[in-house]
Amino acid sequence: MPEARATGYQPPRDAFGLWQEQPELVYLDSAASCQVPEPVLQRYLQYYRRQHANVHRGGYPLAQQATQLLEQSRERLAHWIGTDAEHLVFTAGATHSLNLLATGLTIDWQAGDEIVVSRAEHHANFLPWQRLAERHQLKLRWLDLDPLTGGLPATWPELIGPRCKLLAVTMASNVTGQIFPVAELCRQAAAQGAVSIIDAAQAVSSVTLDVAALQCDALTFSAHKMYGVTGCGVLYLSDRIQQQLQPALLGGGMVAQVSEAQSQWLTGVHKYEAGTPNTAAIVACAEAAEWLTEQRQKGLSDYLDGLTRWLVDELGQRSWIQLLPRQAPALPVLSFFSPEVHAYDLASFLAEQGIAVRAGSHCAQPLLQHWQHEAVVRVSLAAYTTRADCERLLAALDQAYQLFA
Ligand code: PLP
Repeated sequence: MPEARATGYQPPRDAFGLWQEQPELVYLDSAASCQVPEPVLQRYLQYYRRQHANVHRGGYPLAQQATQLLEQSRERLAHWIGTDAEHLVFTAGATHSLNLLATGLTIDWQAGDEIVVSRAEHHANFLPWQRLAERHQLKLRWLDLDPLTGGLPATWPELIGPRCKLLAVTMASNVTGQIFPVAELCRQAAAQGAVSIIDAAQAVSSVTLDVAALQCDALTFSAHKMYGVTGCGVLYLSDRIQQQLQPALLGGGMVAQVSEAQSQWLTGVHKYEAGTPNTAAIVACAEAAEWLTEQRQKGLSDYLDGLTRWLVDELGQRSWIQLLPRQAPALPVLSFFSPEVHAYDLASFLAEQGIAVRAGSHCAQPLLQHWQHEAVVRVSLAAYTTRADCERLLAALDQAYQLFA
């Protein structure tokens, strides 16, 4: 494949124990969860073997070291996304972060005010806003997608108008892989005085994040979609949104003073982190960020771009397969359907051949309903995906067509 050869990137299969045990496995479901490379896993285990204690509580050396590790990870991850530690909160994942925002935001809502979301939202960045809209009699406005290109139509700025008080958009669709112009969207929201929230859960493994350049008020992602382990989310909060955000969870670790009459929260990001954090997963997340940066320096992005374009071309040559619309720039994530073979039949057949893909609505029912699909097959590529994996997928799809159509 010319594109892959040009970058010289070699998928680091050796860093993943899974392929030592199952060399034939074709894993094309990284949009759901990435596999975890050995250095990240080792960092996670090292924490539990040698450095584990509860943080921000004990005064003994082990507890102080664990606290230091947590705060160093905060600094490293903040730096990784273009901010500093005073703006970074740890959560359990993107869903947790978005619910914290929807529960804790104190906006002076008037009936008829608007929350703007895109048609491509994952349920995690739709349901919390839908409930908020119901509670305050707000209007949910949709940024629809162009059915031909999969991107936003040119008229989108008109939809973020003077009644918009909150914009909550995904940086990229977890179904089509389409990347959206979030910096421009945030600028338009700011011009209307609205708060802007970006769901970067799907984009984080492919897009270099820079919250300072994006000028958003909040942005979140989950570690398990960027080669980290489950149970850690990262939530960026601007100074402005911190003024408007009450802690949604109360408990240990977020209070300065508790008394019968009145209690006082800590100032800064720690007030949003009630309870014991998942320090091992957080430390591993900082390691995963470093691992991902190294892969990018070795040419990961160009490699995946080339491989995805080749796969899209190959799929396009099969008239019985229809790709959901997408245009550059897009993630190495794509979905398709066949009018002749059901998505679930295709995915089951592929599973029997040792090829892991996902069929369904991908927690994005508004998008699928809008395009009148019940289920599509999603294929997602990552650092360990090889051209041979994609060839196996194509051959198995051809076999499935022979069998079912
Ligand atoms: N947002 C997007 C775009 C996603 O793709 C996902 C997961 O698939 C989420 C949010 C939710 O992430 P999590 O399940 O880690 O909370």
